[in-house]
Amino acid sequence: MRILIVEDEARIRAFLTRAFEAEGIGVDGVGDGERGFERVRRGSYDLVILDLLLPGRGGLDTLDSLHREQPELPILILSARDDLQTKLRGFELGAVDYVQKPFALAELLARVRVHLRRMSMLSNAVLPDQPALIQVGSLVLDLTARRAQVGETVSELSDREFRLLHFLMLHQGEVISRERLLSEVWGYDFDPRSNVVDVCVRRLRRRLGPEAPIETVRNAGYRAAA
Ligand code: CA
Repeated sequence: MRILIVEDEARIRAFLTRAFEAEGIGVDGVGDGERGFERVRRGSYDLVILDLLLPGRGGLDTLDSLHREQPELPILILSARDDLQTKLRGFELGAVDYVQKPFALAELLARVRVHLRRMSMLSNAVLPDQPALIQVGSLVLDLTARRAQVGETVSELSDREFRLLHFLMLHQGEVISRERLLSEVWGYDFDPRSNVVDVCVRRLRRRLGPEAPIETVRNAGYRAAA
């Protein structure tokens, strides 16, 4: 799976790139519509995230060309423009979705996953670089069923628990700070006083039992390590 992000704000590009890569999705980013069009023509992408307020060639114009070039390619608009007319024009020109800035990362990821799933169903392909299982020590996470297993104990996870655990397991051995988890799993850029991360980890531990290999690293964060 590979997506292209056409977005002139480098900070948003970097933020989204990290988030999608953590999901096992490859990302290319460009800062304007002209380069976006060139990339799509040369590369093979499963989805495009397109900003509308871009330097040079406008987003809607870019959308029009992208859609004509590759009518099957899902294009999701990510824009601060909130007028109905622009949204409708976007859909008319072939966009499959419209997410307004400021956006919640979790929602954007969920929407992208839906479109990618639909694409992979259409092309009958299995997600190539996503193994169905990921394991750290005695803990096994089933990515399709979104279930975790430690020894004999199988637990159903909520979406947030799944995403938190998945992120820690993808970075096994690494200490991941609360701030990073907040940004990756909740889509909050900063909220240092929030304890939602600790609450979610406590819930996970209750579900998974005392054997689960999730460590608290004092004053630093959490780590999944065997
Ligand atoms: Ca912009």
